[in-house]
Amino acid sequence: MDMRITEVARLSANREWTCEQMGSSPNRFEVLVIGGGPAGIAAAVRAAESGAQVGVVDDNVALGGQIWRSVHSQEEDSRAVAWRERFGKSGVTPLTGLRVFHQPEPGLLLAESVDDLHELRYGKLILATGARERFLPFAGWTLPNVMGAGGLQAMVKLGLPIRGKKVVIAGTGPLLLAVAANLRKHRAEVLMICEQASWASLARFGASLAIFPSKIGQALQLRKELSSIPFRTNCWPVVASGQGLLQSVTISHDGRNETVTCDYLACGFHVVPNVELPILLGCEISDGVVQVDDAQETSLKGIFCAGEPTGIGGVELALVEGQIAGLAATGQASKASKLFGERAKGRRFARSLGRTFRLRPELKKLSSGETIVCRCEDVRHSRLARHGSWREAKLHTRCGMGPCQGRICGPATEFLFGWKTESVRPPVFPARIRSLAGIDEALENAPIGGMR
Ligand SMILES: Cc1cc2nc3c(=O)[nH]c(=O)nc-3n(C[C@H](O)[C@H](O)[C@H](O)COP(=O)(O)OP(=O)(O)OC[C@H]3O[C@@H](n4cnc5c(N)ncnc54)[C@H](O)[C@@H]3O)c2cc1C
Repeated sequence: MDMRITEVARLSANREWTCEQMGSSPNRFEVLVIGGGPAGIAAAVRAAESGAQVGVVDDNVALGGQIWRSVHSQEEDSRAVAWRERFGKSGVTPLTGLRVFHQPEPGLLLAESVDDLHELRYGKLILATGARERFLPFAGWTLPNVMGAGGLQAMVKLGLPIRGKKVVIAGTGPLLLAVAANLRKHRAEVLMICEQASWASLARFGASLAIFPSKIGQALQLRKELSSIPFRTNCWPVVASGQGLLQSVTISHDGRNETVTCDYLACGFHVVPNVELPILLGCEISDGVVQVDDAQETSLKGIFCAGEPTGIGGVELALVEGQIAGLAATGQASKASKLFGERAKGRRFARSLGRTFRLRPELKKLSSGETIVCRCEDVRHSRLARHGSWREAKLHTRCGMGPCQGRICGPATEFLFGWKTESVRPPVFPARIRSLAGIDEALENAPIGGMR
């Protein structure tokens, strides 16, 4: 088995963000960043600008993360343009199309590409693994064309035809508005936006934006773009119906049910941090987020974390945390400390987001006995309700043991049953047997004492 980093296919037009050919490039980095979203890009650039040898790994074919990946140039925001340019000049090695799934020993990570296993060695590590949407189960949520809000947006960006399609957007969080604006630009007919939070809660959130002038600008712009779309609060989906394909959705609005005919239901209940890799490495987690010190260093020396895994706070916070991590990992503590004020502001915004879009308890009643909760293993609510913990439910029902490894049903069961899912075993993503069989070989290749 060839254990070198081999060629990674060039599949994207975004040349500066992608790895065209690694060839014989080294697979040892003074600083290795996992995750090529805004946090990872900012971390990698600030570290590389000091002269360090830096690599950034992402499992997608292009860097950019949830927000900047596969954005058409005419839609790209000015921050993305500026960071793209800086990244191009920084000398960071982009390692796209690689998914890190295991750390067999400190300083050595294993990643898979479509056809190979790759060893990645590091001195310092920065985890910038981002977040994913939270799904809540309700009758019919597994029907085709019921999708995550961000998921539908991503598919449209990749070419899914949406022009003229009737879309209901539902769930909670600012992502719903961003998705509505984007789908509209692609000529979808957005019928309504259903937000579970109350008007009072949103009004408090609006008032709290006063200290974030850039957010006020974004909010006003979105309001203008979406002014003709009904925006309902205290509103959520109850049933998605259709014969093999979504045809309508019943929503609850201020306690009354209404059925709406539509082609797509784009539904997401805010986002949850991707903390599986930090947990696997042994980083301390509290309240579902990675614990970091002022320098963004985790409880493990030399391992830093930035962006959504430390708390959901949006792109500005991800960028500033990434920069601090990149600077701190390369010994530039005084430069890093100049960014602490900006980070504190971002964290205030994050707390406000958390309060505003907290899930209301009524949503627990959306799923009943027959509702599928684990869609990979077809486990229904009634089977789970017999168990007292995530671990017990996994052992008895296979809940969380399918291809998503509990990434979808884990946060749902945490909300529904109060279960904690903070135990992770390798591989953190499903991996090929050939890759797992190569772990011993990778360890044999490891230099004694590693790089640290
Ligand atoms: C589905 C979705 C859609 C969103 N859409 C918008 C939007 O339209 N507008 C907006 O303002 N905000 C949006 N957000 C929020 C926005 O993504 C964040 O505010 C910001 O991008 C966070 O940046 P980040 O670098 O922390 O994480 P991300 O941008 O999520 O980047 C993390 C990257 O790490 C990669 N990764 C994770 N684990 C591994 C691994 N083990 N190996 C290799 N790679 C790995 C991920 O694939 C991802 O590319 C969205 C969030 C989600 C979840």
